[in-house]
Amino acid sequence: MPELPEVETIRRQLAPVLESRRLARVEILDPRWTQPQGPGEVAAGLERRVVRRLERAGKYLVWALSGERFLLMHLRMTGTLLFDPPADPVHTRVRIALDDGHRLVYVDPRRFGTGHLMASAAARDLYLGARLGPEPLTPAFTVDYLRAAARGRTAPVKAFVLDQRRIAGVGNIYADEALFRASIHPLRPAGSLRSAQLAALHDGIEAALAAGIAAKGATIDDFRHVDGAHGSFQDEFLVHLREGRPCVRCATPIRKLVVGGRGTYVCERCQARPRRRGQAASSSGRRPARSAASSS
Ligand SMILES: [Zn+2]
Repeated sequence: MPELPEVETIRRQLAPVLESRRLARVEILDPRWTQPQGPGEVAAGLERRVVRRLERAGKYLVWALSGERFLLMHLRMTGTLLFDPPADPVHTRVRIALDDGHRLVYVDPRRFGTGHLMASAAARDLYLGARLGPEPLTPAFTVDYLRAAARGRTAPVKAFVLDQRRIAGVGNIYADEALFRASIHPLRPAGSLRSAQLAALHDGIEAALAAGIAAKGATIDDFRHVDGAHGSFQDEFLVHLREGRPCVRCATPIRKLVVGGRGTYVCERCQARPRRRGQAASSSGRRPARSAASSS
């Protein structure tokens, strides 16, 4: 699934060719894309509007259109946007013709992607505000915020990081990479992280996302650039998908676990497993985490 760096890559590629262009014709071939809105209503709401800015919020691509309309696109599992493809690929769901003769095609084999039209900035803010926490790589995402959001949480930190309402834009790839960078085991309860670990997690999330953006995203499954090219971040993974291969820091083989139903990659030497309840505290003298000691 495209995550923040992949959607940001698409945004950067499309902004120069979409901004200031008028949407001459919009054909929505799959009604599921706009549900619960009707495809005719959304197409009519888009046609003849000018793209003022192409923005991003978490994993959403946000089209700011003339007349204060906003198209919120989420690519989900397999959505791809292609600019000027030679022909309509199979699984084409939406076709957009621009006023300068170019065209954009939305392709989605599994059809989980969505396109919703918002009739005002307030409606956009309400929609996104209910779904997204602070945006990493912006001033709103601070260590203090992470500390407050994690306080009292007994869920594994990996699930915490994946929750879009807590942190916008991080998915399975960048969660694994961030936790490795921060030397935090993905099963550690979020509320048990100490101050230094919260700071390391904050920096790890931002560093992993920045590296992903610099490499123009990761192509594992369906992610493509708007010209059909692949990202290259998959060649730079530190732990993700590296099961059995040596840790880049300590050479211990990377293990694959399942955390919250998601394949999760970890170096269990660099990222120490949380102690189980009842297990003696280690000789380092650190007391067991409160949430681990009190949870049932
Ligand atoms: Zn290691």
